[in-house]
Amino acid sequence: MTNEIAIAVDNLSKVYKSGTDEKLALDNVSLNIRKGSIFGLIGPNGAGKSTFINILADLVKKTSGKIEVLNINYEKNLIGAKKLLGIVPQELNIDPFFTPYELLEIQAGLYGIRKKDRRTKEILQMLALEDKAEAYARTLSGGMRRRLLIAKAMVHDPEILILDEPTAGVDVELRSNLWENIYKLNKKGKTIIITTHYLHEAEELCSNIAIINEGKLIANDTTDNIKSLLDKETVFIEYNNNKFNLTELKKLNVDVKIYDNQIQIDYKPSEVDLNTMISTINSTVSKIKKIRIVETKLEDVFLKLTKS
Ligand code: ADP
Repeated sequence: MTNEIAIAVDNLSKVYKSGTDEKLALDNVSLNIRKGSIFGLIGPNGAGKSTFINILADLVKKTSGKIEVLNINYEKNLIGAKKLLGIVPQELNIDPFFTPYELLEIQAGLYGIRKKDRRTKEILQMLALEDKAEAYARTLSGGMRRRLLIAKAMVHDPEILILDEPTAGVDVELRSNLWENIYKLNKKGKTIIITTHYLHEAEELCSNIAIINEGKLIANDTTDNIKSLLDKETVFIEYNNNKFNLTELKKLNVDVKIYDNQIQIDYKPSEVDLNTMISTINSTVSKIKKIRIVETKLEDVFLKLTKS
């Protein structure tokens, strides 16, 4: 990852108006997305994720604010900016009577890419669709359709790939395959932006995460920093007998709870060294049966942030 900014968003707002009704869908959102990152935009339904993506895709007009795509002003040079973006829509709508090969060729035609410059076969291969090049789109599974939509978005070789809820409608077992393909594109230098409400997915896949709620940006940081917002881990220790002495353990900066055959220790990983703690526990409890460490999940951070 470089320090270059792929997308810079400055005070972006969107008000939907219908008659006298007004809905503030994005409220002064400012954020930078670094080139080469996998950036996750997460938030509950109605948070404004699609509005954000649709503004970038030029499907929705912003009310105010500024967007730059790799230093190109989105408003002043819309064509230039859009060339840098590949947008993968949420819906799995694909013309059923064309083959993947034909669909990519048509898309290339729409972008005015000359026959000799087209990379149809290469793109199909990159998204593991080469076997299906000549199959009718209607025969493709959900995962294959999603990959075909990604392939379509890659036809003009954009620097930035934006995927709106990429795993919606994709079987669980096909998800990892989809992600492998997305990782591959990221390794080739593409900046990836995804929206999701599957928090664990963002946590596993994204290097950076922004959280929006009711149109407002409530967090924007590296995934590790977002997770450290709660800076809490819990160790559960099952023991065989209750001959223990907690004096030493309590000297560490931890919170100890004792249950029938289990001790629960809450601590801040940033403040307490796990090794010191484990050796203290070892000298505290005469026989350890089982140790389990529970990390803070993004889900917990998310709940905490959206509640406050
Ligand atoms: P998300 O993608 O996070 O679920 P959206 O961007 O779709 O959120 O919606 C944000 C808010 O804007 C919601 O309250 C939604 O009802 C409202 N909204 C979205 N599209 C429109 C529209 N075309 N007209 C009026 N309100 C809209």
